[in-house]
Amino acid sequence: MNLADIKTIEQLLRANGFSFKKSLGQNFLVNPSVCPAMAAAACDKNAGVIEIGPGIGVLTKELAKNAGKVVTIELDERLKPVLAKTLADTENVKVIFGDAMKLDLKEIIETEFKDFERVCVCANLPYYITSPIIMMLLESRLPLDTITVMVQKEAAERLAAEVGSRESGAVTVAVNYYATSEILFGVDRQSFMPPPNVDSAVIRLKVRKEPSIKVNSEANFFKFVKACFAQRRKTLINTVSNSLHIEKEKIKAALIKLDIPETVRSEQLSMQQLCDISNLLFE
Ligand code: SAM
Repeated sequence: MNLADIKTIEQLLRANGFSFKKSLGQNFLVNPSVCPAMAAAACDKNAGVIEIGPGIGVLTKELAKNAGKVVTIELDERLKPVLAKTLADTENVKVIFGDAMKLDLKEIIETEFKDFERVCVCANLPYYITSPIIMMLLESRLPLDTITVMVQKEAAERLAAEVGSRESGAVTVAVNYYATSEILFGVDRQSFMPPPNVDSAVIRLKVRKEPSIKVNSEANFFKFVKACFAQRRKTLINTVSNSLHIEKEKIKAALIKLDIPETVRSEQLSMQQLCDISNLLFE
């Protein structure tokens, strides 16, 4: 069964009385070249893979060919009969029905992938929770090797931007803290059924063994970073002072001590500079 073929998908979904739910980010891939490319970039036979949101299983099947084992998590139980049919001939796939944001992924990794060298995540993510899923995967410090995901093009550019560039934001800093990132390829909106209003891109994050910088307090650092990018048009002094109610003079003194101009905007700073300012403000 060709799961990237529109007619096949329509027949399959009709036979199971399935209708797309926009609220669950259900845009299924119908471009036959995308899933093989994603699976090849994501894993090999020595890896166990967690997929989030298999839909009808089009990417799942490619992952099953490339990986040692696949555990795929789907929230929408209406897809149970569909996946039972489409994945019937795959032996190395386990489907779990539940919310990927709520399940204990650490436990799943420990029980399902104990014989594997590496565990990776690969998914065409539901767009309504792209950043929360990526941040959950990184912040919960799961023993992951790589995260290869399809996200909206603009989100990809923000997630994989260089810290210190115009495109960077709080999420860029958070990703850089935990991982290195690259955009692998773009995917246009016509590659999906139904087509979304935006184009997409596949990014790959390689999870670092240690964070990219050593901060005194992670909680304070991320509180500071969030404040830094809260009002993008303002200088760092103004946005941080407004958001965290810290005296402007205190922020100015920290910048002077670090030889950073007081007119600086947050997107002009490196990871180390952000870390140094945060350490001085919260010492
Ligand atoms: N992998 C399929 C493909 O590429 O065609 C489907 C991708 S579709 C963009 C996102 C999938 O994620 C849908 O099947 C949706 O039901 C599922 N989903 C949405 N929220 C979820 C959640 N919190 N946990 C697990 N799956 C979720």
